[in-house]
Amino acid sequence: MTRKAIVLSLIFLLISPIAEAASESTEKTRMELYQKTEAVTNIPWYVLAAIDQYETNIRNNRKDLPDSTGPIGIYIPEEIWSGPENPDPKDVHPLSIKVFDGIGMDGNGDGLADQSDEEDVLFTVGQYLRKYGTDLENIRIGLWEYYHRDQTVGIITGFIKLFKKYGHIELGEHAFPLPVRTDYSYRSTWGSARGFGGRRIHEGTDLFAHYGLPVRSTCFGIVEMKGWNRFGGWRIGIRDINNTYHYFAHLNGFTKGLKVGQIVAPGEVIGSVGSSGYGPPGTSGKFPPHLHYGMYKDNGRTEWSFDPYPYLRVWERKDLKKK
Ligand SMILES: [Zn+2]
Repeated sequence: MTRKAIVLSLIFLLISPIAEAASESTEKTRMELYQKTEAVTNIPWYVLAAIDQYETNIRNNRKDLPDSTGPIGIYIPEEIWSGPENPDPKDVHPLSIKVFDGIGMDGNGDGLADQSDEEDVLFTVGQYLRKYGTDLENIRIGLWEYYHRDQTVGIITGFIKLFKKYGHIELGEHAFPLPVRTDYSYRSTWGSARGFGGRRIHEGTDLFAHYGLPVRSTCFGIVEMKGWNRFGGWRIGIRDINNTYHYFAHLNGFTKGLKVGQIVAPGEVIGSVGSSGYGPPGTSGKFPPHLHYGMYKDNGRTEWSFDPYPYLRVWERKDLKKK
C-alpha cells in the first residue's frame, strides 16, 4: 500500500461512523417525503424512493450534473422541467411551463413549480408516471420513456423490489464475503499483473481459502448475473442500492435455487470458494482455490472498477465485533 492509500483509508475509517449517523435522519426525512407524495399521486412510495436512489447515485458520480443540496437527489434537466421551447429555462409558473410542454408542477401548494423544492420535484415525477399508470408494468414503460436506457429501467426496478420487500430504505448494511474466524487470507492486490490473458490489471481482491468455504453476499441487493465465464469461472454479480456491482468469481458452485433477479441480504450464502475458470465450462484447479471479489460503479453511462480492499477490511472488522 502506498502512503497516500494508507492516509485515505484512515480518513475513510474515521468518517464512516459519523456519515452513518447523519444518514439515518436523512433517511427518515426522505421516507416522509415519498409517503406524502404517494398520498397525492398514488405512485407507491417505493417507486419514488427507487428513482430517487438511482438519481442520487448518478449525481454523486457524475461531474456534469449539479450536486444535490437536499435530501432528494432527483435531477430533472431544465429543458424537461420548463419545456424545450420555453424562453425562461428557470420558469417557475405552472401555467407557462404547461404551455411550453414542460413537466414541472407545484406539489407543495405555494403556486410555484420550483425545481429546487423537494415536494415539487417528487410530485412532478409522480404525476409524470401516473400518465402511464400506477402498476409496475406501466411504471416501467413510463421510466423507459423518460430514460431511454434499458439498464437504467432494470436498475430502478431492482431498487423497487428491494424497498418494497423490506418496507424501508435503510439497506446500506454490508458483510464480509467469507465467514470471519475461519481460515482465509487476503491482501491488497489492486492493479497487480494478471497471469492468463484477460484484462491487463487485476480488478479486485483475491481471498484465499479452502474449497467449499461459504461465500456470502456483501450487501442487500439483486442477483444480476450468474453463470460461467472463461476467466471468472462460475461467478455471481449482485447490485446494491448504491448502484455498486459486487462480483464474486472462481466459485466451486452456487447455493441451490439461487436465481437471477433474486433479492439477497448481507451475509446470505450464495455459493462456495473454488478454483473454477481459465477454460471451458467446468474447468477447475488451474490455480489455488480463492474468491475473487470485485466492485464496480455505474454512473448511468459507463461502468468502472475500484479497489474493494479498504471496504473488505471495514466489513471484516464489523463482522468480527458481532456475536
Ligand atoms: Zn482475482
